Amino acid sequence: MKKEFNSLIEQIRQYNPKADFEKIKKAWEFAKLAHTGQKRLSGEAFAFHPLRVALILSEWKMDTITIIAALLHDTIEDGGAKREDIVQEFGEEVALLVDGVTKITGYRLKGPPSARQAIAQEQFIENLRKMLLVMARDLRVVFIKLADRLHNMRTMAALPLEKQIQNSTETLEIYAPLAERLGIGKVKGELEDLAFPYVYPEDYKKVKELSVKAFRSAEVDIDTMKKNILLKLSKQGVKAEIHARKKHFYSLWKKLLRPEIDWDFDKVHDIVALRILVPEISDCYVALGVVHNTYKPVPRIGISDYIAQPKPNGYRSIHTKVFGPRGRIVEVQIRTYEMHNEAELGLAAHWSYSEAKSSGVADEKLEKEGASAGNKLSWVRELVNWQKEIADSEEFLQAVKFDALKHRNFVFSPIGDVYDLPAGATPVDFAYMVHTKLGNHIAGAKVDGKIAPLDYKLKSGQVVEILTSKNPKKPNSDWLEFVITNLAKREIRKGMLQ
Ligand code: MN
Repeated sequence: MKKEFNSLIEQIRQYNPKADFEKIKKAWEFAKLAHTGQKRLSGEAFAFHPLRVALILSEWKMDTITIIAALLHDTIEDGGAKREDIVQEFGEEVALLVDGVTKITGYRLKGPPSARQAIAQEQFIENLRKMLLVMARDLRVVFIKLADRLHNMRTMAALPLEKQIQNSTETLEIYAPLAERLGIGKVKGELEDLAFPYVYPEDYKKVKELSVKAFRSAEVDIDTMKKNILLKLSKQGVKAEIHARKKHFYSLWKKLLRPEIDWDFDKVHDIVALRILVPEISDCYVALGVVHNTYKPVPRIGISDYIAQPKPNGYRSIHTKVFGPRGRIVEVQIRTYEMHNEAELGLAAHWSYSEAKSSGVADEKLEKEGASAGNKLSWVRELVNWQKEIADSEEFLQAVKFDALKHRNFVFSPIGDVYDLPAGATPVDFAYMVHTKLGNHIAGAKVDGKIAPLDYKLKSGQVVEILTSKNPKKPNSDWLEFVITNLAKREIRKGMLQ
């Protein structure tokens, strides 16, 4: 463990030479003591876990307080340490962060499906409220929680299958969308890919097998393009770095499920994207010119300039699609190094500056970044304000659903369980996702309390209730005309044969 701890110290020294290394060392000793004799299910000493969580946070260049809180994050819950001791040894700020992480762990956003409706709904809303409150008090809690979840997902092999599936479902429902809302693209992608094989094992296998050829062929094109573009950019005096960005399996799968793509890999233009990194914003536009001069832009699809108009989570880049060397469409992403760092680490990227700030290094750049970090947080603050104003749980749930989750296709069951469906999914797709039996008993559907046709296209945030008939019926072959998930298609065909 000594080796790992030394590499933590080295890593921190690189971005924050003024960190309080004595205190970090003290926190590590405290954690080791609190977890003495404890082992994880893998057989490894427990203290490795908080150490690796701290290591992840140091990769995100977090401040000293966050690193210390990460080392201590399980000492109260699992290690039998007392809150007073943490306050006394490390101060109230660290104790508050540890509290926050401990409390979130106790919440499950998803009520047990078997619970009575009213209780489950209430619990669901309460948990959402608490989680938002903790987040709003100090966002560093969420970073620690995300790092904790990331390490747990990376080391899940020793857990029983049931627990693996439960953790993975939770990861897809809560933590990955949270990472996305905070703009931490890197973590979102990894969390989703770690959870994917447990929650959708068959689809995972299918995507993995079918994508091998598509990945290989895309990489050949990217290699050629990389050489040509680098050469031309250096002639223009732009020092650029070009990488090939492979699409994560989970987001590839989500794309393949879209009705307009329907598993046609040739239609996924960004399966491997060309990513050009340049020093200045003006270089981005020079690079765009070079790309379009070398490879014909695809008409009508057009370019997206997220530098001029950033995405709601703050993402900035220029995206364009061109015909590659062999006529295949290739996506090209152009951004500065700074934008790249932000896209990978999101709001976490802003935290590394806070220590620089407090030690008096305040320049225009920091001010600007601070302001944009504040903007990205506004949705959290808005929600917290709402939850104070809105006494009615029903109304609060509506607010959460329409804001926090609006960029994902989440639909809710009447008891508050969340289902992640592809765009264009219908109540029939929903029913089969909940349970095959439910699909085979469909008599009708209600969306947000009103009767809706079975081919209704669901929107994020809607509550879907499937009305059932007492006697099971054969699925209607007409449903195949409008369902979009493979699961529903498969089950309907199977049911028709019975
Ligand atoms: Mn933990």
